[in-house]
Amino acid sequence: ATARTSPSGVQRFHAGLESRVTRRLGLADDLRQALERDEIEVYFQPKVTLADRRLVGVECLARWEHPVLGTVSPEDFVAVAENTGQIGALTEAVLRAGLQRCRDWPDADDPLSIAVNISARLLDEPEFPAQVKALLEHYGVAAGRVTFEIGQPALTVENERPLPVLRRLRDLGVRISVDDFGVGASSFGYLRQLPIVELKVDRRFVQGMATDPGDLAVVRAAVMLARQFGLGAVAEGVESELALDLLTDMGCEIGQGFLFSRPLPYERLEAWYWAQTEVEATPSGEFRRLR
Ligand code: C2E
Ligand code: MG
Ligand code: MG
Ligand code: MG
Repeated sequence: ATARTSPSGVQRFHAGLESRVTRRLGLADDLRQALERDEIEVYFQPKVTLADRRLVGVECLARWEHPVLGTVSPEDFVAVAENTGQIGALTEAVLRAGLQRCRDWPDADDPLSIAVNISARLLDEPEFPAQVKALLEHYGVAAGRVTFEIGQPALTVENERPLPVLRRLRDLGVRISVDDFGVGASSFGYLRQLPIVELKVDRRFVQGMATDPGDLAVVRAAVMLARQFGLGAVAEGVESELALDLLTDMGCEIGQGFLFSRPLPYERLEAWYWAQTEVEATPSGEFRRLR
């Protein structure tokens, strides 16, 4: 294993000798510094209608390029943030970036909607909804253009704790989505109680669907469940035309995945959008959308 020195001067070991936990502890100070210096970037991955690939919104995904370690996986640094009291700051940075992009968005006929991932921990913070409200007002973005994605594992049977915060978020007008649906255990009764509008089927099942009948059954059941409960169904991890066909056949309307686009830096998202959108030049030299 090689020893490396982090910007905070701490020696760390790599190549398997070091446990994930040790690495997380070592990363905590670096993450704090990155947040202070505004070095966490946000990429945007399109969610599209499966029927005609129109943009319905973007998921905001945090990215961190560590000066020494290089790219750190969001799963890793989100865990660091959760375990070291920094998840509020990380989420705020991502939400601010997304809201700013809602303002920057160039197509006034078709405003941008954003989705932001919310850790279970924030649902324990009674002040969280008020902070969200203040940010929405600050950026002047309508609450209905913001979706919060909450992983199903946080929403397990009989967990009443997140309900008050979820309800207050819903009352603000924010949309709430259950992310990674299929990997957690929520009873039907509990799901019905949740103020949600969408189920996002976990990408593992969507990716496996073409080759594994069990995965296909999970995706189909989730889409049917969403339908029956009057919720939107979103498939994430759509990577192939075959997956697209299967999803279309089962009545899933919205998808996200590498088949449509990877997560993109904002400038490339705009370029992707215009490439998808037919425009014509008007006599005055402005652009007009045809679809
Ligand atoms: P997620 O919320 O389920 O986000 C979707 C993940 O699936 C993203 O990974 C995205 O890049 C990936 N993905 C989308 N389509 C495809 C596909 O077709 N194929 C493959 N192989 N992957 C696809 P990413 O960006 O690495 O994020 C991983 C997880 O980290 C997210 O899963 C989310 O749980 C968490 N995360 C990312 N940003 C944030 C954040 O700002 N806050 C919180 N709390 N969690 C975040
Ligand atoms: Mg998500
Ligand atoms: Mg997911
Ligand atoms: Mg996830």
